[in-house]
Amino acid sequence: MEIRLPGSYGEGADRFRTAAEKAGAETERHDHALFGPDGDVLAIDVARVGPATPRATLVALSGTHGVEGFAGSACQTAWLETGGADRAAIAGVAVVLVHALNPYGFAWIRRVNEDNVDLNRNGIDFAGSLPENPGYEELADVLVPERWDQETQDVTTERILDFAGRHGFPALQAAISGGQYRHPAGLFYGGRAPSWSHGVLRGVVERHLAAVPRVAVVDLHTGLGPFGVGELLGPRPGSPAWERARAWYGELTTPGEADSVSAAISGDVLDVIGRWLPGDTEYTEIAIEWGTLDMVEVLQALRADAWLHAYGDPTGRDAPAIKTVLRAAFAPDDDDWGRLVGVRYEQVVGQAVAGLLG
Ligand SMILES: [Zn+2]
Repeated sequence: MEIRLPGSYGEGADRFRTAAEKAGAETERHDHALFGPDGDVLAIDVARVGPATPRATLVALSGTHGVEGFAGSACQTAWLETGGADRAAIAGVAVVLVHALNPYGFAWIRRVNEDNVDLNRNGIDFAGSLPENPGYEELADVLVPERWDQETQDVTTERILDFAGRHGFPALQAAISGGQYRHPAGLFYGGRAPSWSHGVLRGVVERHLAAVPRVAVVDLHTGLGPFGVGELLGPRPGSPAWERARAWYGELTTPGEADSVSAAISGDVLDVIGRWLPGDTEYTEIAIEWGTLDMVEVLQALRADAWLHAYGDPTGRDAPAIKTVLRAAFAPDDDDWGRLVGVRYEQVVGQAVAGLLG
């Protein structure tokens, strides 16, 4: 399956809506209260095809991390256009495509949402005690300094590498990306309450999945791992979901383990969907993580963007260069990369459909 990355959130949303309409999908649109940089309306779009009371439903999510939605949007749209969703529906699996779960981040070229919240750290129980992250505490001011000139970048990068030297790179990755709940302008911030996107997603789960015996979710991410490789991050090892996912997809990794590109995290979207589903649902969830640039380049892009929104002017003269680098770190305009993403997407959703029918 060939994919074509959209030039902007608005183009991605338009193409998705057109493809959904042509495929005869039922659609929903959930408008956001804020607007994009060009004044575009922002929304989470949902397209559904398939039987009214399916035995199984496949959900694919794009843009959980805003800017990562360039690839996810292109996959969802191409899959509709090439009849993949229809074929799944004819086989008996309903398909629910959630486009741009974080439309604000997608439009503004950010990984996080309108409140600097990472939706994959936001699904915790805010009534309980918040997860602690002492490693992040140590690095908070270093990661997102008040100034972003070359000298500050050199000094702070030195200190980050020093942390890695003392604790190792896995500990550095866990400190930075494991999630934190104390620095609202910092990196990988989980927020203080469920986000707007989580509220919309919960409604989608309740409307479309409450009476479905078998549910599979594929959440589409970019930015970690080797260029163009789509690593599958699986459910909790040893759980029935993990056993099923192994049987359907083959090789999986576990966030936080040595084999995985991802640190262990709390409050991710896949986890919270599992809690919203009825207890007797057979739920099989994975994320695809397509690698782009190396970890240090991706981190620098995220730090610059966090600085821009915390201390700079997101519409000012520093913005275009920072946004160009960030976009390249999460959605490379590279034909080979796009080809690898399209092929992997089609393979994984095909395996999901086969698994759900098995
Ligand atoms: Zn992501």
